[in-house]
Amino acid sequence: MHLKTLTVRGFKSFASATTFEFEPGVTAVVGPNGSGKSNVVDALAWVMGEQGAKTLRGGKMEDVIFAGTSGRAPLGRAHVSLTIDNSDGALPIEYAEVTISRTLFRAGGSEYAINGNSCRLLDIQELLSDSGLGREMHVIVGQGQLDRILHATPEDRRGFIEEAAGVLKHRRRKEKTVRKLDAMQGNLNRLEDLTSEIR
Ligand code: ATP
Repeated sequence: MHLKTLTVRGFKSFASATTFEFEPGVTAVVGPNGSGKSNVVDALAWVMGEQGAKTLRGGKMEDVIFAGTSGRAPLGRAHVSLTIDNSDGALPIEYAEVTISRTLFRAGGSEYAINGNSCRLLDIQELLSDSGLGREMHVIVGQGQLDRILHATPEDRRGFIEEAAGVLKHRRRKEKTVRKLDAMQGNLNRLEDLTSEIR
């Protein structure tokens, strides 16, 4: 499995559609300060489901949409799509090539898709999580992050290891189930109240 192409349009400094093609192996992005190198990494994190505006170096999620320059008006949406070579079947989906995409509208709302079919954010997170890719998987190590890991408390360090080991997906599922159980218990309590009132 390797990343094949990344296309950004209206994302941060990339107003026009721009496609990056990656070959297997190491890719280096070089350029002057402020030219948008980190924005490419932000686009990767964003399309893989990043939800924290701060992680993306902004104040709110809308900040990822091209905000305009002196010569170009702001845009109404940000779109990023990432194509992954899946010929080794590392992603649990029956396609040799998988394209995930995410769009955010300035007017509100966002869309996610896998191979052009609309899906939920959760579907993208689940698709990527088994492969070790995706949000909170520490595949993207930002500036200063190594320091944070080296100086983490033993509990936090354990959290990093658990995430790298793939426990995160199961923890998320457990949290979701516990929330459902709580809601169900609330319904049962309400039902008991009603039954005792009828008696
Ligand atoms: P450095 O080498 O200094 O780390 P860099 O090449 O990594 O820089 P980035 O941080 O990726 O650069 O890009 C910063 C540029 O992106 C700034 O010029 C900033 O104005 C621009 N930028 C960020 N968000 C937006 C946005 N929403 N709309 C337009 N431009 C944006």
